[in-house]
Amino acid sequence: MPLELITAADALLVHSSGGKDSLVMLDQVATWAHQVGCTDKIVVVHCDLGDTSEWPGVRDLAERQAARYGLRFIAIDSEDGLLGLVEKRGRFPDAARRLCTSSLKRDKANVLLTSIVTALGLDRQAVVINCLGIRSSESPARARKLPLAIDTRTSNRNRLVITWHPVLEWSETDVWERIATEGLEYHPAYDALMPRLSCVFCVLAGYTVLVRAVRLCWALGLPLPEKYTELEARIGHRFKDQYSLADVVVEAAKVEADEGPLKWRCGDAIRAHLGEDAAADYALRYFALAT
Ligand code: SF4
Repeated sequence: MPLELITAADALLVHSSGGKDSLVMLDQVATWAHQVGCTDKIVVVHCDLGDTSEWPGVRDLAERQAARYGLRFIAIDSEDGLLGLVEKRGRFPDAARRLCTSSLKRDKANVLLTSIVTALGLDRQAVVINCLGIRSSESPARARKLPLAIDTRTSNRNRLVITWHPVLEWSETDVWERIATEGLEYHPAYDALMPRLSCVFCVLAGYTVLVRAVRLCWALGLPLPEKYTELEARIGHRFKDQYSLADVVVEAAKVEADEGPLKWRCGDAIRAHLGEDAAADYALRYFALAT
């Protein structure tokens, strides 16, 4: 009952990484909110991890994605991002101790949530909905999530916080179909066939994705492979238990020697997921909306 949910809420925080899943979730929630005249309740929140963590242009992209629907946008700065966190702790996070998500994103967003509830100035418990663009097919942990749940950790006498996963059951194809048919703007890293717009070197990414990330850094002239391998050597802790980022860089150099530098074309993500015709349609739709 998304329309009833949005109508009942005092505020909706749409958490946007700027990535493809956030993008379609934003499109979906904004469309529903528009139908019930509630777009003014929405705040799009982006945690900016900075240029030593993320691909260039992510924050500006997230802002443009929100602006398409005329929504309020707030970016939260995360000081030194993933690199700074690792430097401070002397070790990389991992799937079991994923401190990066909690300290770089969730804790900071909760501070914003408090200020939004205060600004509402209600003399009753406020109903706040946290909208997250996760999908069950991404991982077994995400498959166990509920579409809607009370966030008991964040709720208190002033606010009832509900976590909503509006695109939980969407497949990756569903996501790309929505992007293509609506002409939504996505990050060019997807055209270089990066599967997620997460940190450039996400601690949860697989080996081949990391190899591709190193090659994309080289293609874009980003100094991140050197920065991360230098940090790895300095703190004496490997990026992953099974291999170091230095190993990944060596493998990336081998692949470059065999295949040459990474190349991509605008629309390659749509091409890869939906085919040539869809990519051509997307280009027409996107440029028509952009001009
Ligand atoms: S994208 Fe990966 S490395 Fe970055 S904060 Fe999230 S889990 Fe951590």
